Amino acid sequence: MRTIGEARKALDLLMERAVSRQTRRGTLAEKQLVQAMVADSWIQLEQFRLLVLRTAWKIDRLQDYKAVRKDIAAVKAAMPKVLHDIVSRAIQVHGSRGVSDEMPFVEQLVASYVMGIADGPTEVHQVALAKELLAAVKPAEGLFPSAHRPAARERARRALAAAGAATAAAPHTNDAGRSA
Ligand SMILES: Cc1cc2nc3c(=O)[nH]c(=O)nc-3n(C[C@H](O)[C@H](O)[C@H](O)COP(=O)(O)OP(=O)(O)OC[C@H]3O[C@@H](n4cnc5c(N)ncnc54)[C@H](O)[C@@H]3O)c2cc1C
Repeated sequence: MRTIGEARKALDLLMERAVSRQTRRGTLAEKQLVQAMVADSWIQLEQFRLLVLRTAWKIDRLQDYKAVRKDIAAVKAAMPKVLHDIVSRAIQVHGSRGVSDEMPFVEQLVASYVMGIADGPTEVHQVALAKELLAAVKPAEGLFPSAHRPAARERARRALAAAGAATAAAPHTNDAGRSA
């Protein structure tokens, strides 16, 4: 939640700079590549915010750490990148001032790396999440993946043939449901 606050602060400053800084042809906010930075940052932050919110909701509702372990691992794995990416864009649109100690971004950028280490390395959270996800998945039956089209077509053909054989074997009925 603290990371959301830090990232939101960086995004607010990014947008303020974009609408304030005049170049020879309009503001930075009028440049499409800067607009893309704003859009990507907002999307990344909102996705992360919803993941945090859902995880907090599950913690409250389930009161069972094991049941939310993978959600917590996902939050911890996502967190450093969200902060890193948004702060990096904020630095970029602030130009030289962005990398100076007149702005808070360098500390925020270092904080994004700290987030990937301090509460356990990101890799450990990724592994915890992936292990739990994979443990719930069954291997495909047979040689091919379950969405393999030729195999699926063959299964459908066999099912259709079986249904056709069953229909042919059943007594024929007319529209009124009486045997012909
Ligand atoms: C600001 C700060 C606050 C901290 N607060 C606490 C605290 O409150 N409580 C606490 O117990 N610890 C705390 N720590 C310690 C923190 O948990 C460790 O720094 C962290 O687990 C990494 O361990 P390490 O520094 O020994 O590095 P190493 O174990 O040497 O890891 C170095 C790097 O190797 C990689 N790595 C390590 N393990 C794996 C793995 N299993 N799979 C893949 N890659 C791996 C990662 O990239 C990792 O960053 C804090 C650290 C910092 C920087």
